[in-house]
Amino acid sequence: MSKKYCYLFTEGNANMRELLGGKGANLAEMTNIGLPVPQGFTITTEACTQYYEDGQKINDGIFAEIMEYIEKMESITGKKFGDHENPLLVSVRSGARASMPGMMDTILNLGLNEDVVDVIAKKSNNPRWAWDCYRRFIQMYSDVVMEVGKKYFEQLIDEMKEKKGVTQDVDLTAEDLKELAMQFKAEYKSKIGQEFPADPKEQLMGAIKAVFRSWDNPRANVYRRDNDIPYSWGTAVNVQSMAFGNMGDDCGTGVAFTRNPATGEKKLFGEFLTNAQGEDVVAGVRTPMPIAEMAEKFPEAFQQFEGVCKTLEDHYHDMQDMEFTVEHGKLYMLQTRNGKRTPAAALKIACDLVDEGMIDEKQAVAMIEPRSLDTLLHPQFDAEALKKAAIIGKALGASPGAASGKIVFSAEDAKEWAERGEKVVLVRLETSPEDIEGMKAAQGILTVRGGMTSHAAVVARGMGKCCVSGCGDIKMDEENKKFELSGKTYREGDWISLNGSTGNIYDGAVPTTDAVIGGEFGRVMGWADQFRRLKVRTNADTPHDAAQARKFGAQGIGLCRTEHMFFNEDRIPAIRRMICSDTVEEREAALAVLEPMQQSDFEGIYEAMEGCPVTIRFLDPPLHEFVPTEEADIELLAKDMGKSVAEIKAIIASLHEFNPMMGHRGCRLAVTFPEIAVMQTRAVIRAAINVQKRHPDWNMVPEIMIPLVGEVKELKYVKSVVVKTADEELAAAGMKMKYLVGTMIEIPRAALTADDIAKEAEFFSFGTNDLTQMTFGFSRDDAGKFLGAYYDKKIYENDPFAKLDQVGVGKLVEMAAKLGRATRPDLHLGICGEHGGDPSSVEFCHRVGLDYVSCSPFRVPIARLAAAQAAIKEQRQ
Ligand code: PEP
Ligand code: MG
Repeated sequence: MSKKYCYLFTEGNANMRELLGGKGANLAEMTNIGLPVPQGFTITTEACTQYYEDGQKINDGIFAEIMEYIEKMESITGKKFGDHENPLLVSVRSGARASMPGMMDTILNLGLNEDVVDVIAKKSNNPRWAWDCYRRFIQMYSDVVMEVGKKYFEQLIDEMKEKKGVTQDVDLTAEDLKELAMQFKAEYKSKIGQEFPADPKEQLMGAIKAVFRSWDNPRANVYRRDNDIPYSWGTAVNVQSMAFGNMGDDCGTGVAFTRNPATGEKKLFGEFLTNAQGEDVVAGVRTPMPIAEMAEKFPEAFQQFEGVCKTLEDHYHDMQDMEFTVEHGKLYMLQTRNGKRTPAAALKIACDLVDEGMIDEKQAVAMIEPRSLDTLLHPQFDAEALKKAAIIGKALGASPGAASGKIVFSAEDAKEWAERGEKVVLVRLETSPEDIEGMKAAQGILTVRGGMTSHAAVVARGMGKCCVSGCGDIKMDEENKKFELSGKTYREGDWISLNGSTGNIYDGAVPTTDAVIGGEFGRVMGWADQFRRLKVRTNADTPHDAAQARKFGAQGIGLCRTEHMFFNEDRIPAIRRMICSDTVEEREAALAVLEPMQQSDFEGIYEAMEGCPVTIRFLDPPLHEFVPTEEADIELLAKDMGKSVAEIKAIIASLHEFNPMMGHRGCRLAVTFPEIAVMQTRAVIRAAINVQKRHPDWNMVPEIMIPLVGEVKELKYVKSVVVKTADEELAAAGMKMKYLVGTMIEIPRAALTADDIAKEAEFFSFGTNDLTQMTFGFSRDDAGKFLGAYYDKKIYENDPFAKLDQVGVGKLVEMAAKLGRATRPDLHLGICGEHGGDPSSVEFCHRVGLDYVSCSPFRVPIARLAAAQAAIKEQRQ
């Protein structure tokens, strides 16, 4: 059977949102439950995808079906397009599967031409209204369908108001509006070179195409990427007969929420505007009255509306966001949807609905957007102030939160300025371990280079610090402490503001508000924990971060990056000495300095995690990140090591790698310098022994993780060093303690040979940062340079370093999990790449049977909620 592309509102229902879009499905549902809905039909999302498949054309079959449905609509409403007795006027609105407020286009009053205006003017005895509709229609059609800017028409309106000495649109007379309509038509002709179309069917086809086209407009594309909405979904189009809010003072239009979308308070919240059409409320042409005032001015319609609100909440079991019109005192519902709300309101509403017996706890958990929890845990911009702020750039929202501060260009300056009480934003080409203290001191970090798994991004997320990375538009002049962006030069001390969730960069200072976590947060998280199967661990490298993560509910550490322990100023010399050693003795001496630092950190981390499992990954430093670059630092290191500057420079030169990401890192380091693994094993085991002694009731089982393994023999070799050292340590302490040696699966070859690897590995943790990098064959640090072009060309819809590529990289993960468990059925499986905190990736991990996900501390609550939602979704299917 051929596809059906059009559905009357009486043919659909709320479950058909994939096909009819949210708006269409809900218009059908409201019709089904007997609410007053002006009738019409929905053109499906499949018609939209077909339009794109056909090269942005509406094919003959779909065209014929639309014509057939116009006739059906005409017979239902008893009105006809272009008729001189009873003309049909319609609205044409977009409506995708997921709501995308304000992203796509709407056209009202379609079906008007000069003849029809005369007909409705006479029939209604209200020429003012008739001409008002016509001038609005010309304006919207020109803007949306023909893309003639709104501003030309607004200018004409302003001129007319000035000429007539009035300030409000409503004070213009029928004659004025008629004159305006004529001016608009002339404007249209001068811009387009053709008469404004008079045939309603031609108007309708133009409007439908414009809505389809708006699916691909730049703001919709950005919104979709930010909100994880696939391009392939397409939008539906709703053709609905008009109800008129602009017919006089007993008419009006409103937008309302059944509960307060900012706070969640259970109280009708919204606005109403008399003698107006919907876009007036949105555009702020006049100031609407609060909805409560409507109760006095339109008591009957208001009462009806209150009833509808109750019916809708009871029906949808959620807070509704509605658009409605009152025509001569009679209420018409134009739209309802589950209302967008702030994260705090979302939690309150979910808890209230449970307490009111409207939903159960599972439904409450399922209705909260996991990523929105970010905003509860980090500072945010003051919403009012943000509206006035100028965006000067957009890059990757690498670590959420809001930051506002004075620009500084070096980590030292950040520290110094912060110490004297200044708020600063650290702007760097890219960050390196040396910048860590400056990053800590800054409100936020902005980098020119780097992707979602670059150093700045990973470290900032770990700290819970706002970071925007990879802003290639910045023309940086670090030396002279200035940069150019958006045509303006920014110097040290100038204010900028960053939004680490959207990646927006703002000119000047924008005030921020602190994070607030209410009691509902804990309640919802408690429910989530009951429903999830996946455990949630954290990626933490310090006792401080571990304690933070524990507060957010982490059940262990999935990744402790031991090289991150040496970022601090007082430690970096020690690791540099190790890297620049050229004999085993020299290296062992350097390692001896590192060992107590590691051991005490491990103890601190074990203590912070209160007996929960802790996976410690052995050193995996891309060496170039650690060697000094500044002359003074090189001199210092030379002195420290008793070598000449020339010798140190020669060593640094010999360490140079063309692609350090693919270079001498991971277990390759331990293969060449086994003494490193010896030192780290000693530090881990000694720390575990000490903590076990302090807490006899804890069951310490250290987990040692070997990174970047691609061949089982590599693992076997390093493991032999670990086991020998660990057993010696335990024997010397006279202790019995179980410990595990596992590996990361982050090289495609390891995934392909996971059955072999599992012969040696006692657990796997998927390092999907490297696995993504190596599967795609592009560098995690540099991909930002060209990903933009890939989004524009629809080759990729998302950054694969942020959202797991389930098709390719995911296939490797799933396969390795199966192969590993074929060898070792109880093999413990986790993920510790950045994807471990991304909701859709968490769902994937649940589906393929991993035991846990591990993510940065501030994303732990997100992962807990996403894991619960994955389990609930699976049960429902
Ligand atoms: C990974 O590669 O996914 C990983 C967690 O390790 P790193 O980011 O430290 O390379
Ligand atoms: Mg890695």
